[in-house]
Amino acid sequence: MIYIDQSQLDLDADWVDDAQAKTQTLCTFANSEQRSSYMTQNARVWRDPRLITALEDRSHKKCWYCESKENRSDRHVDHFRPKGRVKGTDHGGYYWLAFKGENYRLACTYCNCHRTDRENGEVLGKGDSFPLENEDQRISDPTIGYDQLCRQERPTLIDPCKPTDVVLIDFQDDGSAIERFKEEKNPTGHKRAKASIDLYHLNERDIKDARQGLYQRIKDLVARIDREFNHALDQDSSAENSVEDSLRDLKALRAPDAEYSAFAKAMIASFQSETRPWLSMLD
Ligand SMILES: [Zn+2]
Repeated sequence: MIYIDQSQLDLDADWVDDAQAKTQTLCTFANSEQRSSYMTQNARVWRDPRLITALEDRSHKKCWYCESKENRSDRHVDHFRPKGRVKGTDHGGYYWLAFKGENYRLACTYCNCHRTDRENGEVLGKGDSFPLENEDQRISDPTIGYDQLCRQERPTLIDPCKPTDVVLIDFQDDGSAIERFKEEKNPTGHKRAKASIDLYHLNERDIKDARQGLYQRIKDLVARIDREFNHALDQDSSAENSVEDSLRDLKALRAPDAEYSAFAKAMIASFQSETRPWLSMLD
């Protein structure tokens, strides 16, 4: 997961006007059946290509949760705060945020929907889950402003739109996503990362395999530079070119538009040592 700066989200002005008008209408309904039916009838608001393009532009078409490229799957727009109900609670859902841009996260099917994990048989994926660190602070009043709501509630799930959240996830060279902090050091950070890894299904087999393949590629590039670096220092032009090409490739793997760039960044950093001064050239 990498940080997505929502303040840079370039939403179409006509889309924003339409979404605001629909929020006002939605909030006039007295019961949840009417609201639910109105949201279903107007789902095109969050399926609108103008919105999806704006969300994709922020992440180079990658899922905001797992960084998979969304070239061939349905492009889901997740309501970070679920609109219809909140699993495990009697909360009726954050319906007043159904058409709000700040509540949207571009998500792949595995992160957004329930899927049975092929390895452990557990049903993982976000669905309607939105646990809070303190359930008593959950807001049900639609008149409370969005900023105040965000200040009061402390979501358990890691939010890609918060820079202090995305650092809670780290990786291992077998392709697994893991908690950055040990439980003893930062119990809340550990717990939030653990819950997020499950609820976003970040260790599903295919994504782990893809990260493993990426690690092998990084390892090969590092080995190539290790072999050629001293020759390059002696101005062997073939070695110089080889080192330059490999450095360029490593840099591209951790660039924001690369798939699984947070993983690549963590793995490249793991090769840091006194014998590899060239790693600092990637910064
Ligand atoms: Zn995803």
